[in-house]
Amino acid sequence: MLFLCAFTALANLTSFEPLRRYEEKHGGSLHGKYKDATPFRSSVKTDGEKSGSKSASLVDELGVMLKEKGFNYHGCEVLYSGVYGTELTCEIFIGPVYYQRLRHMVSDKYQVRSTGPIDPVTRQPVKGRKRGGGVRFGEMERDSLLAHGAAYLLHDRLHTCSDYHIADVCSICGSLLTTTFIQPQKLPVRQIVGLPPRKPPSKVACHACQTGKGMETVAMPYIFRYLAAELASMNIKMTLKLSN
Ligand SMILES: [Zn+2]
Repeated sequence: MLFLCAFTALANLTSFEPLRRYEEKHGGSLHGKYKDATPFRSSVKTDGEKSGSKSASLVDELGVMLKEKGFNYHGCEVLYSGVYGTELTCEIFIGPVYYQRLRHMVSDKYQVRSTGPIDPVTRQPVKGRKRGGGVRFGEMERDSLLAHGAAYLLHDRLHTCSDYHIADVCSICGSLLTTTFIQPQKLPVRQIVGLPPRKPPSKVACHACQTGKGMETVAMPYIFRYLAAELASMNIKMTLKLSN
């Protein structure tokens, strides 16, 4: 692949860099010497390299090398028009440039999620781009939101968009694990017996207190309920004190 560059663009550093690299490669090969052609290094030599050389600029030194072998000082070449066959009057810098494609594609990297698959145990979003999981909001991210005082956003990330759960808690005994659901007695049976229709009882009740009077609904992360269950398996009772 050929690299073409107008001489007038050399004031630009980006355009200047290929010239230096070309001169180093070309000048070095003509003289049969090894040359350091590392891209984007300073074109001016450091103090350590200065000794033993008359020129302060590496480009000047390489330009002299090119000129000795009959090339243009700045690496320019004479080109002819492909249409008319006439010589192009401007100075054109020409030399080999090697490119390599970067294989990291946006389509392979992007990750986004509003709602999606959750872990059946913790009820929190699963991880992994392939599975449509979420981007982990870890402790450091939590700390940064705390430092900014963005409490509502923190609540949204860690609770609302994560494992939001409404638990039935017994305010009498403070337990959130003793909830039982009461099936109301079927109406047709009562009608057959001849009893008056009874007021349907509350659907949830505390199995330990044998009543549904103290039941309250509390929003909490599901993992908190999971923690209470884990502690209960180790014979540790967790009680909640509810208040308005
Ligand atoms: Zn209770």
